[in-house]
Amino acid sequence: LHEGLAQKLSAGKNEQGRHKGVVNEQKKAALLKLRKELPIWNHERLIRQSLSGNKDIMLMVGETGSGKSTQVPQFLMTEPWCKRCIAITQPRRVAAISLARRVADEMGMTLGAPACQVGYSVRFDTSIGPNTRIKFLTEGMLLQEMLRDPTLPQYSAVIVDEVHERSVNVDLILGFLRNLVSSKRAAMKVVVMSATADVEGLTKFFQDGLREKTISNGTDRKATKVHSQGTSSSSTGSAKAHHTKDYTVDAFSDRISTCLIKGRQFDVKTTYVHEPTQDFVEEALKTIFRIHCKEPLPGDILVFLTGQETVESLQRLVNEYAGGLDEKTPKILTLPLFAALPQIAQQRVFDKAPHFTRKVILATNIAETSITVPGIRYVIDCGKVKMKHFRNNLGLESLLVKPISMSSAIQRQGRAGREAPGQCFRLYTERSFQELQKVTTPEILRCDLSQALLTIMARGVPVQDIITFPFLDRPSDESLKQALTQLLQLGALNESAHFSHTGKQLARLPLSPTLGRVILEAAKPERDCLSEIIDIIACLSVENIFLNIHTEEKKEAAEEARRSLFRREGDHLTLLATIRAYSEEQSDRRAWSDRHFVSHRAMQNVIDIRKQLRAQCVQMKLLDRNATEGSRMDEDTKAAMLQCLLRGFATNTARLMPDGSYKTMVGNQVVAIHPTSVLFGRKVEAIVFSEFVFTNRSYARGVSAVQLSWVGDVLAGAT
Ligand code: ADP
Repeated sequence: LHEGLAQKLSAGKNEQGRHKGVVNEQKKAALLKLRKELPIWNHERLIRQSLSGNKDIMLMVGETGSGKSTQVPQFLMTEPWCKRCIAITQPRRVAAISLARRVADEMGMTLGAPACQVGYSVRFDTSIGPNTRIKFLTEGMLLQEMLRDPTLPQYSAVIVDEVHERSVNVDLILGFLRNLVSSKRAAMKVVVMSATADVEGLTKFFQDGLREKTISNGTDRKATKVHSQGTSSSSTGSAKAHHTKDYTVDAFSDRISTCLIKGRQFDVKTTYVHEPTQDFVEEALKTIFRIHCKEPLPGDILVFLTGQETVESLQRLVNEYAGGLDEKTPKILTLPLFAALPQIAQQRVFDKAPHFTRKVILATNIAETSITVPGIRYVIDCGKVKMKHFRNNLGLESLLVKPISMSSAIQRQGRAGREAPGQCFRLYTERSFQELQKVTTPEILRCDLSQALLTIMARGVPVQDIITFPFLDRPSDESLKQALTQLLQLGALNESAHFSHTGKQLARLPLSPTLGRVILEAAKPERDCLSEIIDIIACLSVENIFLNIHTEEKKEAAEEARRSLFRREGDHLTLLATIRAYSEEQSDRRAWSDRHFVSHRAMQNVIDIRKQLRAQCVQMKLLDRNATEGSRMDEDTKAAMLQCLLRGFATNTARLMPDGSYKTMVGNQVVAIHPTSVLFGRKVEAIVFSEFVFTNRSYARGVSAVQLSWVGDVLAGAT
């Protein structure tokens, strides 16, 4: 009987497998039609040729949506030199995952199945199998892989995508790859892809690397000789058409090729507001309904906003108003899209809208170039972006809402015209558009560099060589020095300025060096509060677990409802109390969240991050596998937690002045407690804060009260 059942089950499985295979093949065939329409499709041969023989660097520029990310790895994977895996980096998790899924579909495979040749690897989530040949991964993950072996022997090619975004990580990857290919330490091809890159700058960057290596290896004689003759003939036999006298450059160009793909772009009619708007959320709301009530279907709307908070408040407003639409008007489906959104929710933007419904996607900058959502005909652009800014004089990094650059505005506008003529509504004046900065300043020139330097050193670059690291744009000496001081303070460098064991551990943790340091401190036996600290850090890793309240009457209700969660020590312990109460709620966590004006979505994220962080700490032997979740709130544990926070955030501290204001301990700047803090309006002798916000004045957000003597101790390096 048992055998018969097993046979039946296995027959059923085979049947299921066969069915899946058929579905996959059908999908593949349908998608092939679409692939053939992509602008990149006719360039396949050229792309393959560009990397044949000793050509090992390709720079490719093509508009968003032209097919770079999905097609290039498929073109290259069958090349004779491509025996191992192809890595393709993405600045964001959502892009890595959705691209992997798309390419698996195009290849007729099921993502996650053992036979699948496509996989992805993002922080806290991977889908890699024995047959993976194309691996989409975030930039951070590739840098993590370099920790294991900086020569990346597992890859035949590394494709660096979305280079125009110029994240710090992409700049670091380019620096490492330049060193790798020019020293020929790795038999690997490098493809650099971008929607708007400055090809000349990138070509020069790689040429400089090749030239430096040749000269340092003493093999520059031939090149110098030819150069001195100023001839255009080639003595290596490989360099072609030298129209310039600078033979050296052209000889290297032989290893570098460039490829330009002209994108598909329909006309986009663009309108501006006549007067500057005070409230872009309200203006966006009006514009959405103006479009919705006037323009026929199909045609989805993509709205660019600044962050999770503006996305969520506009979503609430749109849903509220959409409820009042009459039967004859199509329905509205709002879909948020921001980096911290759980994956499943992010993937929903790709689903087709239901019948008689218009999709309204409320996105942050993530939709600018990173992902292409089909079906968009209308773009609403608030003209702002939230970005990191490091203020050297304060030594603090903060997220600021800033006007976008002109090139961002053009990218956003372009999203409306990928499939048909579209419209773009800029919620700023034409004059403001003309006054925008031409391109966005690369992140490396405006962020705290301690994480970047930690990344570089952990991959084997000694401190003294940081000065020669090939940065595409070199940060100022002052910010490099400040970052090194910070690393010294965190203990990542020892007294003789060597990279320390603590430094190595910090580099392994998927957190900023400051938060990482808090974790390491909490793992010490004398502190013994790692479970609790992990909970707090998980909360700090999402934008905001408390919902923003806009009306006065709701504010009072929210305050009342949250009172049981508030802790007089400050926001960090309040977060801990909240995650604990949420975890203890067994019956209906969504209802609990609503009752306490807490974001259920953010809490789901927190729980997920907590799980991952615990696993990472277990792996690093910081946490016992069977350790219970953070639950202690006795006085000793509370003091230990605050001291751990101080160890990481020693420079984010301020003391109370006789006039009632707070001044930072480092830099002596006035800083106010943010109105959202539970300590708002309270006077305590000293504070530590995990975030610095600058709007019209400097604010400390995420604040806890600490003893002044503790701050003195940690700043004096006594711990
Ligand atoms: P590029 O890298 O040049 O921006 P992509 O290769 O990412 O272009 O996208 C090519 C096309 O594939 C897009 O225009 C889009 O229609 C489609 N596409 C990409 N990813 C997805 C996805 N996850 N779901 C549906 N369609 C997708």
